[in-house]
Amino acid sequence: MNLTFKPYTLGLKHQFTLAGSSRGTTPVMLTKIEHKGFTGYGEASMPPYLGESHDSVSKFLKMLDLRKFNDPFNLTEILNYINNIVPGNTAAKASVDIAMHDLLGKMIKQPWYKIWGFDKTKTPLTTYTIGIDTDEIIRQKVKEAEPYKILKVKLGRDNDKEIIDIVRSVTDKPIAVDINQGWKDWKMALEMVYWLKEKNTLFVEQPMPKNQIDDMARLTEKSPLPTFADEAVQGIDDVVKIKGIYSGINIKLMKCGGMRNAREMISIARALDMQIMLGCMTETSCAISAAAQLAPTVDFADLDGNLLINNDPFIGLKVTDGYTKPIDSHGIGVELLNPAFFG
Ligand code: MG
Repeated sequence: MNLTFKPYTLGLKHQFTLAGSSRGTTPVMLTKIEHKGFTGYGEASMPPYLGESHDSVSKFLKMLDLRKFNDPFNLTEILNYINNIVPGNTAAKASVDIAMHDLLGKMIKQPWYKIWGFDKTKTPLTTYTIGIDTDEIIRQKVKEAEPYKILKVKLGRDNDKEIIDIVRSVTDKPIAVDINQGWKDWKMALEMVYWLKEKNTLFVEQPMPKNQIDDMARLTEKSPLPTFADEAVQGIDDVVKIKGIYSGINIKLMKCGGMRNAREMISIARALDMQIMLGCMTETSCAISAAAQLAPTVDFADLDGNLLINNDPFIGLKVTDGYTKPIDSHGIGVELLNPAFFG
């Protein structure tokens, strides 16, 4: 098997502002694995707060020697090699994991949700993210989000109620909120959760800093809405640690190292009776289409990353009637817009 990769920079349609950061681009690395006339595509997305970059991913991928594997069906052995070569580098690892799954699915001539035996009619609605912005832009974004049935509103600064009131002046559709660790006092957080519940909110994501474990456990115990860990959960080992502290987990391919690890996290979370949300970074349709293969197994999908960018090099999953159901093309289900992209 032959691995090639190309750095690329995603342009965001709107400046993306969270409780602690703001940016207008996201670096990604696109990967390609070829074997006997088949081609699999993958992607690493590197939002700056996760610590990976074009340089680190390039360095990681150069360490790999996939030519020593002649049979892509030895997927477990190949992914163990990638996972164990050095710690961390989860987005870089995801870029190889996704490309391997795409390659293998194309060789088997099936999409992964079918290989795994999932029923795609069970896919939940996807949320669409509204970042922190001026009143006018928030109003405009909510109007642009007309095709989506649930909005995920970013909160966590000092104007949370104003933002929700602006959203509610435009639409009464259900919302979820993502605080990105912005609330520091659990009693104030609990009051806000009660207030949000009255505003037709479905769940609260990462309300408090990930290291305020006792406060978070108290909040979850008393909260009338489910709480989801995002920044507090990265990979497989973290799921069991946050049982009892949050009601559920937000799984992202870029945090956990790809499709195989995400699937394992889903199994562990189900065994622990936790809720599951499947999220993303700002990503191309490549990583989004890969994540969507798992969407039929989760409680909430948040797969809008490819909708937030203006230079997607792939054609893949599109939201239909508010759903990100996996598509029936082989592998993860993407094609390059420009076949000469990798040169
Ligand atoms: Mg989040």
